Amino acid sequence: MATATLTIDLDAIAQNWRALDGKSAPNIETAAVIKADAYGLGADVVAKSLHRAGVKSFFVALAEEGIIIRKSVGNDAKIYVLSGMMLTDAQPIRDYNLIPMLNAPEQVTRFRNETSDLAYGLQLDTGMNRLGLEPDEFMGVKDAANDADLIISHLACADEPTHPQNSAQLAAFHAMTDGVNTRRSLAATGGTLLGADYHFDLCRPGVGLYGGFPFADAKPVAHLAIPVIQTRKVAKGETVGYSATWTAKRDSVVATLAAGYADGLIRAMGHNPVSLFAGDTPCPLIGRVSMDLLTVDVTDLDTVPNELHLLNSTQTIEDLANAAGTIGYEILTSLGGRYARRYIGGA
Ligand SMILES: *Cc1c(COP(=O)(O)O)cnc(C)c1O
Repeated sequence: MATATLTIDLDAIAQNWRALDGKSAPNIETAAVIKADAYGLGADVVAKSLHRAGVKSFFVALAEEGIIIRKSVGNDAKIYVLSGMMLTDAQPIRDYNLIPMLNAPEQVTRFRNETSDLAYGLQLDTGMNRLGLEPDEFMGVKDAANDADLIISHLACADEPTHPQNSAQLAAFHAMTDGVNTRRSLAATGGTLLGADYHFDLCRPGVGLYGGFPFADAKPVAHLAIPVIQTRKVAKGETVGYSATWTAKRDSVVATLAAGYADGLIRAMGHNPVSLFAGDTPCPLIGRVSMDLLTVDVTDLDTVPNELHLLNSTQTIEDLANAAGTIGYEILTSLGGRYARRYIGGA
């Protein structure tokens, strides 16, 4: 095996969706956020599998991503575009029956003038100040609210349950939308876990489907096996890798593996303890992460296998994220194009 293999467990994704769906009442829809190529895991395959599992609505960031989902799942799913409608999006939105989440007064006006026969949603700003209509802007287009397919807002701090901004945004969302006769959605993964007050008509988790925090009970989805290119003896006192940051404290055996930061194994990961696994046995990652290579202390293994595992059910994207000082989202979406991708489950 010459290339590293990223195995994506479609059954685990479906289980995570069912588990998140189970957090809200049965009459509340649970959609799937599948932007950025399903957080790097392959939007066409993941969408098809989730659609089969019962997902009826998908959210993407860009119209181009929506086209891929439409081709994958067919005509009976709703596909919402979170970036709204940029000038070049009118044709794909019409041709592929995508629902733009309009986020500025000009977009609402233009959409209703030029494409009044199509469905649209509205995105409101309740305090994150990233995308969406402010309260006064929303008042100005309020007649567009009752005809919208869906009204959403996004929480800035939902993965910190006690953060005061959660209830402040909840109150702002109520103040803006109570009395409007349109389906509403406020919760992503974090909001889904905050409880019923945050669920409205539809929850829209993303990262939790793919095994990420803040859904602590998520099943791991991504598994990564990296081939061993060679092993070498390193005498006590010798160093390994760029800048000679690791020094052998004993006579050691070091394995060199075929993946590095060009494959999304970000270099900062090397600053904290990370292991590569031979079965259940952890072997420490040592030295600096190179562009295409990792070095691993395999001194304590009786036999060195052909490949070692960086992501498995013991060491997850969250562990790598913690080691690298980042978040699971970034680990997932960084996983590079050089891996052989293997999908399991999803039947
Ligand atoms: C990315 C995103 C989501 C999904 O967020 P997760 O934290 O991955 O669950 C939901 N809504 C909006 C507007 C988003 O941008």
